[in-house]
Amino acid sequence: MFAISGYKFSEKQSTARQEITMASKPIRVTVWNEFRHERSHEQVQKIYPAGMHAVIAEALEQHLGEAVRTRVSSLDDEEQGVTSTVLGQTDVMTWWGHAAHDEVTDEHAERVVQRVWDGMGLIVLHSGHFSKPFKRLMGTGCGLRWREAAELERIWCVRPGHPIADGLDAYFELPQTEMYGELFDIPEPDELVFISWFEGGEVFRTGCCWTRGKGRIFYFRPGHETYPIYYDANVQRVIANAVKWVAPRSSSPYVTGGHHEPESLSPIAAKHEMDASLHE
Ligand code: ZN
Repeated sequence: MFAISGYKFSEKQSTARQEITMASKPIRVTVWNEFRHERSHEQVQKIYPAGMHAVIAEALEQHLGEAVRTRVSSLDDEEQGVTSTVLGQTDVMTWWGHAAHDEVTDEHAERVVQRVWDGMGLIVLHSGHFSKPFKRLMGTGCGLRWREAAELERIWCVRPGHPIADGLDAYFELPQTEMYGELFDIPEPDELVFISWFEGGEVFRTGCCWTRGKGRIFYFRPGHETYPIYYDANVQRVIANAVKWVAPRSSSPYVTGGHHEPESLSPIAAKHEMDASLHE
């Protein structure tokens, strides 16, 4: 053991221990779903009789086993499925919405955003690109081109070393999908893992990663409600990999908001009287 002035080796070691402890606990995943089309449209009901959240949750349990604990919540649940209790017990949230983005209240959207800043992982699926939490976290319009024509989609992995691509081939195909095309109005992804080509000619950034605050975000395109997308083994593999990738990995505090620190940590040479009225 050696010592360097100013370094606190023992504290760093204890932080490392905490991270190891965090990693060994099951990841608590909340699969959030708008859950409207499955109840109102016969075609969707046939594909997802218990809702697509049920299929996604079951897939995560199959792929991740003891490493994950899932729960489901939806728009018509208490406090739109994002009570403080639910969010407080969630390490990773997946979000699917389509027709009722505007029904999610600003207050509830803000709760999700705050939890992401505080470290919760967020996986935004398909038409969730227009959800309030995603748009707030991106800060852009998040629009795109689209066409529902049951066309072939070929999803290429452009970052094969990325954990979200683990176990996948160079590309996989979905025989019938809704098309999403560029320009996808998002900020430049920190990492781009998948791009899509569509039978009709368009291309799309299909698997995108960002970090906001302490939280990791993954957007994944497939998932239109009239196709059995969430039963696809490759799609399930990507979402399961993404759960592990966006899961919190640090117990360090993340202090948001403006904190006045009138007392300095070390002496400041200058003499200065703050005009408090400028800060009111
Ligand atoms: Zn769709």
